This record gives sequence, C-alpha cells and structure tokens, in this order.
Amino acid sequence: MSHDDAAARLTAIQAEIARAAATASRKPDEVTLIAVSKTHDADAIRPLIAAGQRHFGENRVQEAEGKWPALREETPGIVLHLVGQLQSNKAEAAVALFDAIHSVDRPSLVTALAKAMDKTDRRPACFVQVNIGDEEQKGGCAVADLPALLAEARTAGLRIAGLMAVPPLEVEPAPYFALLARLARDHGLGGLSMGMSGDYPTAVTIGATHVRVGTALFGGRA
Ligand SMILES: *Cc1c(COP(=O)(O)O)cnc(C)c1O
Repeated sequence: MSHDDAAARLTAIQAEIARAAATASRKPDEVTLIAVSKTHDADAIRPLIAAGQRHFGENRVQEAEGKWPALREETPGIVLHLVGQLQSNKAEAAVALFDAIHSVDRPSLVTALAKAMDKTDRRPACFVQVNIGDEEQKGGCAVADLPALLAEARTAGLRIAGLMAVPPLEVEPAPYFALLARLARDHGLGGLSMGMSGDYPTAVTIGATHVRVGTALFGGRA
C-alpha cells in the first residue's frame, strides 16, 4: 500500500466511524481511533501524522522505543497506546514511553506498574484486558477474575480508564462487545477499547470509545 493511500484510508475509516456512531446516536468524537503501527516503520507512519492522526498503538515496548522518541520530537501531541501483552520486567519502560496501557491483565503486572509509576512519576491511563471469550492461551483476565483484579488495580493507585478485549476469531463479535460493555457499566468504567480492522464499526455501534485499527490503515504486516 502506498503512503498516499494511508491518508485516504484514514479519511475513509474516520467516515466509517462517524457513520457507525450516528446509527447508535453517538457523536464521532466519543470514539478515539488508535492507528496500530506495529511492524511499520517511521516512513509508513509519517503520512498519517501529516494527515492529522495523533493516537498510535504498538504491541512491543522495544519496537516502540526504537521509533517513537524521534517521531515525537518531530511532532508534539502524539499519544501512544500499548495494545500488546506486557511482561512485568518491561513495566517501567512501558510506563516511561506510553500514555495508555490496554493490557493490564494480572495482579503481578498491577504491582509492577504501580511500582514503575511511583518511580517515574508518570500515570498512564490503564485498561484492564478481559479474556472475553474465556479462550485458552489468550491474553486478558478471566471474566470471573475481573472484580478482584479491578479492586487490586484501584488499591494500587492505577488510573483505570476502562476495559479492553479481543473477541474470539471467526465468530460474530457483537455479543462479546456487548458483554464487555456490560462489564464496564457494572464497574462504573467509561472506557471501552474494542474493535479492530475487521469489526470496528460494529464495536462503535456497541459503545467502543477506543478502536484499534492496524491492517485497514497500513495494509498487511510482513
Ligand atoms: C495488532 C492489533 C490490533 C490491530 O489489528 P488489525 O486487525 O491489524 O486492525 C488491535 N489490537 C491488538 C491488541 C493488536 O495486537
């Protein structure tokens, strides 16, 4: 996909988000589009920044450390989201670099993040990731463990913005989005990080506040 295409894709996706929001009587500015730039280099990212995109997502701390400090110097106002699994030993690096962490999913990580926040004096917004389909080998806390994990995260002083999930592949995602929305409501949380390239309009109609779109913006990953 050429870089010119990336800006055109951005416009099309923003229009799609606005259309989906309207069908649910929501305003498009209630939805933050996170451009998931994992595996894509600075030359692929710059056209989107030039087109006005400011929220970006990465899934590896080390990869993000390699490209974002320089891009941030070029353009102020970049907001970086970590959307991938986080090892506790990378918590401090993640807190130093990211403005939001969408993959808080276990007590040991809560502890590591709280320690890193005290040390760095930074408080990224945190989303608790829920294994919404109760799938084996999938990131996220079990639905049954969510109340206890949220309580721990709040006690530890994390700034909990909402919930995040990746529904099971190859099945209709709407019921999973609806379940995540209900869990967030039950726990008084406003943020809902859900919806990817294949299903973000559906997620927006069900209440997503953050959609995480990679392939539809950048093309396929190697
Ligand atoms: C890669 C990734 C995305 C983006 O996926 P696309 O299908 O390329 O839009 C969203 N969320 C998470 C957690 C990811 O790892």
